[in-house]
Amino acid sequence: MNIKDKVIIITGASSGIGEATAIKLAKEGAKVVLTARREDRLKELKDKIEEKGYEALVVTGDVTNKDDYKKIVDETLKHYNTIDVIVNNAGLMPLSYIKNLHTDEWDKMIDVNIKGVTNGVAAVLPTMMKQKSGHIVNISSSAGRKYYPGGAIYCATKAAVKMFSEGLRQELAPKYGINVTSIEPGFVDTELTDTITDEEIKEKLAPMIKKVTTLEPEDIAEAIHYAIAQPKRANINDVYIMPTEQE
Ligand code: NDP
Repeated sequence: MNIKDKVIIITGASSGIGEATAIKLAKEGAKVVLTARREDRLKELKDKIEEKGYEALVVTGDVTNKDDYKKIVDETLKHYNTIDVIVNNAGLMPLSYIKNLHTDEWDKMIDVNIKGVTNGVAAVLPTMMKQKSGHIVNISSSAGRKYYPGGAIYCATKAAVKMFSEGLRQELAPKYGINVTSIEPGFVDTELTDTITDEEIKEKLAPMIKKVTTLEPEDIAEAIHYAIAQPKRANINDVYIMPTEQE
């Protein structure tokens, strides 16, 4: 179980699960490529990782922008000449009831949560196929398995990520040696709920979350590390991880 010197791109590394994953994987000896839009947060994280004697590279980018992805991949290859793993983690969750027609937020979720992942896969695939090795980790959600109030669009995006992951695995793993994992957490204590603008949902969700001891981002980082540290022959398809107290 060794990820030493693996080159790992992590999207949405500026906070929450992405940040915790970057710290964990760097500590395990990986070279982590930190990407997101907020450069100041990424630089702070890079400093934190390097202070501990580990390695990190910052390349800012928006996952909905294919040119940004080209930059992320080009910079990674320029520095490290390979891409071993991508963690497609960037995501948004502005939950709302359909009747309230927050259609701009629907579009954003579809763009970031689905196209952000497909863009990430398209960007790294030529390198991984040439190498005949690689690992794609997509952050889906328990919301990809069951509906949460106000989550018709969010849950749909996460179900799409889960099914996309299974399709990727079946097409890529046997032929190209590219492993694929879908990570499906329940409530994790991060900034994810900050983008909710629908007051009805805010009122409903807060007590639901308060009722349980949520997962910490570090719990998900552990799960990601577990999935990518397996021997090549073992593909961890799904990791479904819930707070013990969440129904
Ligand atoms: P955070 O809000 O803390 O992190 C979201 C990250 O996504 C940020 O780093 C943000 O960076 C990045 N991001 C958002 N939009 C874009 C964009 N257009 N381009 C690039 N990066 C972007 O939330 P979490 O850590 O909780 O979320 C991480 C993933 O985990 C998401 O996919 C989420 O759906 C999933 N998840 C979270 C759960 C939870 O309960 N927290 C449960 C299950 C799944 P920046 O703004 O700097 O660009």
